[in-house]
Amino acid sequence: TDAIRPLIAGNWKMNGLKASSAEFDAMLTGAAEVTAKADLLVCPPATLVAAFAEKVRGKAVAVGAQDCHPKASGAHTGDIAAEMLADAGATAVIVGHSERRADHGESDLFVKQKAEAAWRAGVIAIVCVGETQAQRDAGQTLDILRGQLNGSLPDGSNAANLVVAYEPVWAIGTGLTPTAKDVEQIHGFIRELLTSRFKSEGARMRILYGGSVKPSNAAELMAVPNVNGALVGGASLKAADFLAIAKGC
Ligand code: PEP
Repeated sequence: TDAIRPLIAGNWKMNGLKASSAEFDAMLTGAAEVTAKADLLVCPPATLVAAFAEKVRGKAVAVGAQDCHPKASGAHTGDIAAEMLADAGATAVIVGHSERRADHGESDLFVKQKAEAAWRAGVIAIVCVGETQAQRDAGQTLDILRGQLNGSLPDGSNAANLVVAYEPVWAIGTGLTPTAKDVEQIHGFIRELLTSRFKSEGARMRILYGGSVKPSNAAELMAVPNVNGALVGGASLKAADFLAIAKGC
C-alpha cells in the first residue's frame, strides 16, 4: 500500500580512498539486481564524489555528498558549496547529520540554509534529525524531532527535492536499533508533521530510517509503515552488505 519508492542511501562518512573504487565498482555491478525495488545512492567523502560520479553514468546508482556550505562561493576555507558538488556530479547531499550537528555545532537554521543551498544547485537535500540517548531517556523524543523538523526543513520542501532521515543518535554506529514498534510510532509522527505542513507533498516525501541498519535487520525495519528506505553508515562500506540491505526493501 506504500507507493513511495524506497531510497537506500549509503553514508561513507570519513572513510574511503582512491583504492575504495573497487568496492564501489562491486556495488555498481550488483546494483542491477536491486534497482527495480529501490533507488540507490552512495555518499562518499567529497574527495571521491567526482570520480564515483564518472562511474555511475548510465547506471541506476546516484552519487551524493555528506555536507555543503550555505553559500555558493566565497571566503570559507575548507568548505564546499552545493554548486561544487553538483559540478562534480552529486545529485543529493546529506545535511544536518548528527555528527555535524555535534562536531561542528550546526543549528537547525544552518541546516535549513544548507538544504536551500542544495536546491539552488539543483541537488536533493537529505535532512537528518534524531534524538540523543539523554533526550530519549527524558521522554523528549517527539518534542526534539518536532523542533528539528520545524527548524531544519525549508518552506518549499517537496517530495522531489527533500528526503527526511530519522536517525536516533544513540543508534548510530552502536549496533542498537529502536524496536519496529518505536520506529512505526516515530515515523508516523514525522509523517503527520510533514503532511500538516507540506500537504500532499508531505504525504509523498521519503522518510528514511538510519542507525545500525545491517543486512540482518533491514527487512524488518524497511517493512515498517512510513519507512521509505534507509540511511546506512558502517554497512554501506561493503558492497555485499549494502546490496543485501537494498534487497531487504
Ligand atoms: C549514519 O551515521 O548515517 C548511520 C546510519 O550510521 P550507522 O549505519 O553506522 O549506524
